[in-house]
Amino acid sequence: MRYVDVILPLPLDGTFTYSVPEGMEEKVVAGMRVLVPLGKSKKYIAMVADVHSEKPDFNCKPIEGVLDSYPSLLPQQYRLWQWISDYYMSPLGDVYNAAMPAGMKSTEKFKPKMELYVELASSYRNEQALHVALNMVQRALKQSKTLTTFLALSHWDSLEGDTPREGIKKVTKEELMNEARCTAAVVKALIDRGILFTYELEVGRLNTAGESHLDQIKPLSMPQQDAYNQILMQMLKKNVVLLHGVTSSGKTEIYIHLVRKAIEEHRQVLYLLPEIALTVQIMERLHKVFGDRLGIYHSKYSDAERVEIWQKQLSGHPYDVILGARSAVFLPFQKLGLVIIDEEHETSFKQQDPAPRYHARSAAIVLANMYPEAKVLLGTATPSMESYYNARQGKYGLVELKTRYKDIQLPEIQVVDVKDLRHRKMMTGVYSPVLLAAVKEALKNGEQAILFQNRRGFAPMIECKVCGWVPKCKNCDVSLTLHKSINLLTCHYCGYTYPVPTECPNCGSTELMGRGIGTERIEDQISEIFPEARIARMDLDTTRTRNAYERLISDFSSGKTNLLIGTQMISKGLDFDKVSVVGILNADSMLNYPDFRAYEHAFMMMAQVSGRAGRKGKRGLVILQTKNPTLPIISQVVHNDYDSLFKGILEERRMFHYPPFFHLINVFLKHKHEKICQQASLELGKTLRGWFGERVLGPDKPAVARVKTMNIRKIVIKLENGIDQKKVREYLKYAQQIMAKDPRYGALQIYYDVDPM
Ligand code: ADP
Ligand code: ZN
Ligand code: ZN
Repeated sequence: MRYVDVILPLPLDGTFTYSVPEGMEEKVVAGMRVLVPLGKSKKYIAMVADVHSEKPDFNCKPIEGVLDSYPSLLPQQYRLWQWISDYYMSPLGDVYNAAMPAGMKSTEKFKPKMELYVELASSYRNEQALHVALNMVQRALKQSKTLTTFLALSHWDSLEGDTPREGIKKVTKEELMNEARCTAAVVKALIDRGILFTYELEVGRLNTAGESHLDQIKPLSMPQQDAYNQILMQMLKKNVVLLHGVTSSGKTEIYIHLVRKAIEEHRQVLYLLPEIALTVQIMERLHKVFGDRLGIYHSKYSDAERVEIWQKQLSGHPYDVILGARSAVFLPFQKLGLVIIDEEHETSFKQQDPAPRYHARSAAIVLANMYPEAKVLLGTATPSMESYYNARQGKYGLVELKTRYKDIQLPEIQVVDVKDLRHRKMMTGVYSPVLLAAVKEALKNGEQAILFQNRRGFAPMIECKVCGWVPKCKNCDVSLTLHKSINLLTCHYCGYTYPVPTECPNCGSTELMGRGIGTERIEDQISEIFPEARIARMDLDTTRTRNAYERLISDFSSGKTNLLIGTQMISKGLDFDKVSVVGILNADSMLNYPDFRAYEHAFMMMAQVSGRAGRKGKRGLVILQTKNPTLPIISQVVHNDYDSLFKGILEERRMFHYPPFFHLINVFLKHKHEKICQQASLELGKTLRGWFGERVLGPDKPAVARVKTMNIRKIVIKLENGIDQKKVREYLKYAQQIMAKDPRYGALQIYYDVDPM
């Protein structure tokens, strides 16, 4: 009797054993999907982790079917699942759920669309042999006509040596029959004669990019070529190399050259971007040169499209390059040679909710290590502390590119002291005179401007002027955000919306006013100040769909709009030609953040958004408004002085026990009743402190202590480098099991965030 250990697409840890009925034994191997029953009536598509003949000591149910004729999961991928499950303390079932497109886990079998192609048999691929073939069919008029039509369509009629002068063009059987006006029988006759043959290819419903044009790749400039050579040199010794190149230095061009090299060596490339927001422009650049060798994979694509890419990766004609957001690390790669992680510092590489809370950068490095020759390139203008530290320690290679392409200067950054101006009554709302003048000048000159505000919505909240009452969400412990265009208050945590109150329920006052300022409010104000401006706003609210984002970008690129207002979304790798002014409206909102990464993130955001200024031809101007102009971080931004930022932050991190010197694990407890949640977390805290001592902090209420009616408590564990992390995880799981058995804590949820962002 054979048995399979399977992973269910449910938040359950480990694998579950089923028996394999007679007749199916031959068909099932690890990595295939099988249909299994669970409980009385449920059925799931489970993933086979292992096939064996070890009879379990319980009565197991048989599987009901095998869905695959070849494995859907490669061994390297499964090892990645296991690593993620172990390291991030997430149930294997959650990893399965995150990794595979829903279409592959639904009980309806996905059928890829196939297309039949016709091709010339290899023995006829020279002039002489072709003559023989044509002579052979000379008397069969229809065959003769069909063959000549085929040769013309596929370019085999004009040879250079034994390949077509213009390159082979794929011809579908349907296309040939249409063009030659022949029946399938005629094509079959040519196949029977051994002149033609057919093969099947899956047709992407998505990819109509056409052929690649590797010859159109732009040559690298001297500094770029130098960086490229250094990267290759470093990769001889190191598995991971960090490319620290200022904004607009041409990192993307370097990536393109590296991709081409991998393709020439018949290896696949995984090119990760932090989120879809970034992909549109890069997608176009890559499509131009890599054509249909490039596959794109991210969550805004339909499930069918994602299933199709997955299947193609398993086929005999996988994509050479996959461009995708973090979930693309889960795609099958048969011969991965290079992983590029662009904007490696971006926090959105880390999945927050739901589990698995994995970091795609770490996962990609682990994945690459499973392929003997795969290397990883991390690229950014503002490296994460962790990566830069690893590079300085010699764990990663480090390549610096300090000049922009064509030696265009980095933008000039003018710091504006908002406090002082406000004191002198010179501010117009949140806008300084310098900023308004610069924007006015830019618009007058036919240039563009970007205004950056790290908040969406109209005003973050409203407040009663008399008693200070602030409306809060009934499900979550957060104040609501006012969205004027829909005239509603919304909760950014649970999505619940509320009507805007006309009077304060606390004191009855009708003086309710907005506090703080979001992008929507700025759009309103700016359109009054600059009625001639063609304004676009880019934030989460205006980019809910794939097309909305693309349109915003292309309208701004083409100059249809000339003033872009946005949240950090606009800071990310966008490449515009005519932006001469960037305004950072409120630097302080990024600094006054109760998070040890606040300064690192603030620097990154400001440096990145500044990088949008003056990218082609002319030096740009950045107006940085702040109430704290003397803070060191402000001058670090002004001088693009990453090194002193790094030194300063590193010192703090060492002193206060933060990464990269310590690993953090956040333990969260969740329960409907606040008392139970509090009690359980105190108990767990005590247990953990007994084991790990001072490394355990809390329990504390997190910044938002109630979400979707669930109360939350947090315990932080700080682990010094070198500690046996595996042991710690075992202890944590053990503690969790004890809690799970305690009848008082029936509905308690415990989950982890390892290396939280
Ligand atoms: P980064 O990725 O470092 O921000 P990009 O690769 O986007 O920089 O380059 C910035 C701009 O300069 C782009 O418009 C790009 O096309 C152009 N560019 C960079 N390097 C070259 C090159 N070698 N040849 C032609 N154009 C280049
Ligand atoms: Zn009030
Ligand atoms: Zn809510």
